[in-house]
Amino acid sequence: MELKERNTNFIDRNKLYFLLDRKTPSTLEIDAVLNEALKLKGLTLQDVAVLLCAEGKENTDKIMQAAKWVKQEIYGKRLVLFAPIYTGNVCCNNCTYCSFRKDNRLIERKILTMDEIRQETSSLLRQGHKRVLLICGENSKNDTDYMCEAIKTVYSVKENGRDYVRRINVELAPMEVEDFSRLHDEKIGTYVCFQETYDPELYTRFHPAGTPKADYEYRLTVMDRAMLGGINDVGIGALFGLGDYRFEVLAMIEHANHLERCFGVGPHTVSVPRLEPAIGAPDSENIPMKVSDEDFKKLVAIIRLALPYTGMILSTRESASMRNELINYGISQISAGSKTNPGAYSDTNQSSGSQFSLSDERSLEEMISTFIDGGYIPSLCTGCYRNGRVGKDFMDLAKPGLIKKYCLPNAIFTFEEYLNDFASASTKEKGKRLIKQMLEDYDQKQLLPNIEKNLTEIDKGQRDIYF
Ligand code: SAM
Ligand code: SF4
Repeated sequence: MELKERNTNFIDRNKLYFLLDRKTPSTLEIDAVLNEALKLKGLTLQDVAVLLCAEGKENTDKIMQAAKWVKQEIYGKRLVLFAPIYTGNVCCNNCTYCSFRKDNRLIERKILTMDEIRQETSSLLRQGHKRVLLICGENSKNDTDYMCEAIKTVYSVKENGRDYVRRINVELAPMEVEDFSRLHDEKIGTYVCFQETYDPELYTRFHPAGTPKADYEYRLTVMDRAMLGGINDVGIGALFGLGDYRFEVLAMIEHANHLERCFGVGPHTVSVPRLEPAIGAPDSENIPMKVSDEDFKKLVAIIRLALPYTGMILSTRESASMRNELINYGISQISAGSKTNPGAYSDTNQSSGSQFSLSDERSLEEMISTFIDGGYIPSLCTGCYRNGRVGKDFMDLAKPGLIKKYCLPNAIFTFEEYLNDFASASTKEKGKRLIKQMLEDYDQKQLLPNIEKNLTEIDKGQRDIYF
């Protein structure tokens, strides 16, 4: 179906606010919704509204416990790690909350050359990264030609004759179907774009007229164009702090339902960025509708219950302690050792402006060490994507729980590689102990001989093994 024939106005603002305009739900109502969530089939909009309107610590605790169970049931103790590469901070938009906005004179601007992109990639590879997110401001110099060249460049870099980026995701301004086809041809993984706020009235306030981003509907329909252009996996998100967080969560569920209806598959990931202070960005200094830590934890748990099979991403906008906690309740992917100013990985004195201030400055090694202590297997896996288990195929496999069969072993393979190639002696020692423990507890015993054979191959020097 062509885009123009489809209902593009799938966010009914009044309907969503109406669902939230209700009396506080009873314990009975909340328990009924949580019982539904434990069936791992997701939740209706009405059910999600019940949880969003629940009050009191006791109810929040119940929601968190249910989310913890769902997270463990579907993902187990596995956490995907990636790093963003900011290729430029020049932007033609004027989003009132972002440092990259064109009227901000307080930051130094830069667009990376292909040589600089190569150096950034090398720096990340030397730390042990394998998954990269390319990201930049919107600008005629960062057009599709530039991005295609950037993708080729990143994929072409090889370090130590052995290490290379195995998957590139991109977070770019909305574009046309033909542009998406070109990105697809360059073998990108997920296309990510945040709606910022799904409330069209608020959207107008934060995205001044006269800029490309002022067009609410063009942004709202970007995932439809991406899928029509052949992109299998898309990542949605809202910037929390601009509007009522409860409205944004309902709207994201509506967005997921819309994609499922039109393409037979919902988003591959949901991101939950929370507004952070940014230089020269007035709405980041006085956050319009600040989301408290307690509400933030609750909304992550509710999304996990509503969209049990959708990956959830948390960036370095959040503190180390918040990130350590939220991996238990819903987050399945996390950025590590991030820099948000172009060129900052390879040039530590880089003076180009960053997008917002970072709240978690831990290196990849420090994060991996902490996750091991919490019993988590850090995963740099790209197996599903490279074996064609993407889009609807991925969801068809994930839903009956089959994906567990591939994901844990694949995560262990990439972890074993990391421990052999990059980890300090103490991380290596406790990491190997964790792998041993995981395999002892693994319930797919028939796969163990193959897994152990692959681990031996990795220890002998073979790389990039996956099921
Ligand atoms: N320019 C593209 C766009 O706007 O979609 C992609 C890159 S933009 C740098 C990525 C995201 O950063 C935006 O979608 C927005 O949600 C988020 N962002 C902007 N300012 C922020 C701030 N002060 N704190 C946290 N996130 C912010
Ligand atoms: Fe530009 Fe994106 Fe920042 Fe808006 S959020 S100013 S579009 S980089």
